[in-house]
Amino acid sequence: MTKYEPTIGLEVHAELKTKTKMFCGCLNDPDETTPNVNVCSICLAYPGSLPTINKEAVKAIIKVGYAIGGEILNHSKFDRKSYFYPDLPKGYQISQYDLPLVRGGELRGVAVERIHLEEDTARSSHAGEGSLVDFNRAGLPLMELVTKPVIKSAEEALRFAKELQLTLRYLGVSDADMEKGQMRVEANVSIRPKKLFSGKKLGIKVELKNINSFKAVKDAIENETERQKKLLEAGERIRQETRGWNENRKESFPQRFKEEAEDYRYMPEPDLPPMDFDKEGAINTQEIKESLPELPEQKRIRFAKEYGLEEGSDELERLVDDRGEAEFFEEFVSELKITGGGKEMVKLGVNYLDSDLVGIMKEEKATWDSLKITPENFAELITIVGGNKVSSRSAKDILREMFATGDDPGNIVERMDLTQIVDEGTIENIIKEMIGKNAAAVADFRKGKETAIRFLIGQSMAKLRGRGNPALVEKLLREHLSK
Ligand SMILES: [Zn+2]
Repeated sequence: MTKYEPTIGLEVHAELKTKTKMFCGCLNDPDETTPNVNVCSICLAYPGSLPTINKEAVKAIIKVGYAIGGEILNHSKFDRKSYFYPDLPKGYQISQYDLPLVRGGELRGVAVERIHLEEDTARSSHAGEGSLVDFNRAGLPLMELVTKPVIKSAEEALRFAKELQLTLRYLGVSDADMEKGQMRVEANVSIRPKKLFSGKKLGIKVELKNINSFKAVKDAIENETERQKKLLEAGERIRQETRGWNENRKESFPQRFKEEAEDYRYMPEPDLPPMDFDKEGAINTQEIKESLPELPEQKRIRFAKEYGLEEGSDELERLVDDRGEAEFFEEFVSELKITGGGKEMVKLGVNYLDSDLVGIMKEEKATWDSLKITPENFAELITIVGGNKVSSRSAKDILREMFATGDDPGNIVERMDLTQIVDEGTIENIIKEMIGKNAAAVADFRKGKETAIRFLIGQSMAKLRGRGNPALVEKLLREHLSK
């Protein structure tokens, strides 16, 4: 059987988080639910209205360009892309054609072709009779990033899309929420027989649209690769076309066929001056480059190096994925260091942070901004647990109490009487009682059934209300059982 190799290129659109729209002063408010509130003669394209360039949006694209190591074009311009669509009142879209703001660059090993700036279209909905158009979205600044056709699998495409979302969030240029349509992915998928691989010739390209979640990125590409394989294996031809992805049915459907490249009749936008960053008073690109924040990949590398977290580990990925969690992490670790906590304590802290605290926060739908627990108090909790002053079971109760009240863990330990029992005499009394009460388990253990001791430890710990030091309980139990 012939093996096929997929080649994937992505086109990602992201709505920029600017105060106003791309070419007018209307508000860019994604939370506005009343239709057609944020509109004016410019974004509704009344005759004679003149657009102006939103510098904030241009700066955002330059940031993204530097973040992926691309080349910022000092001479760039806007063009009109003509096509007819009801959600485009002008009959054309202002975009960038031959001189995009950014060329080249790379993210998570995927080479980027270009990034340009354009305006979003209106949102149309088809409810009841006819269709409704909301122009609040018309003219919002939209970034379009196009990768080179170099992606070899659905997983790789997914990893790229996630990293791009994270990068946009780190840069603060877009919330890039796919479910809200703030980030939209299109995939160009083609396959070619592996053994016939010759030079750069790619197979027939199919464009996938309506990909509205990360899961859909993976599902749609996998499904399309399979569909094309089946066609080729059956001796059929692949048609160059655009297909929409139906997430519920887990299948794509034909939207339109493209036998030839579409003619958008691009022309330079006559109402906007070309952008020239060399000119005096223009946007200072160098300043933007120097003000970039730490990026996700840089953070991964630094966290691995500084805190001994394992490269590629899930906990490291999760920390970097959530800026709030990463900040909290760094703050409590610096507190730990003041009290002399080493790498082991950091590891213990990451466990409590990443599974326990994040777990409680998810359950309670809490955010890092509203969290009552301070990094200082969290570091103190880790010091208490690490120093065996409370059992790990009590630590979870203390954490919950800290979450609810914001209280100091030392106070909670005293108030709830949770200090770990390390007094041998107290523990021995309980153990003797449990050995007397559970003759069957004792006999099992003495016959060599090792698991029977787990039961006895459990019984003793319950009697100690979870406050016994588990290692000490086990040690004393073994001593008494071997008598
Ligand atoms: Zn407007």
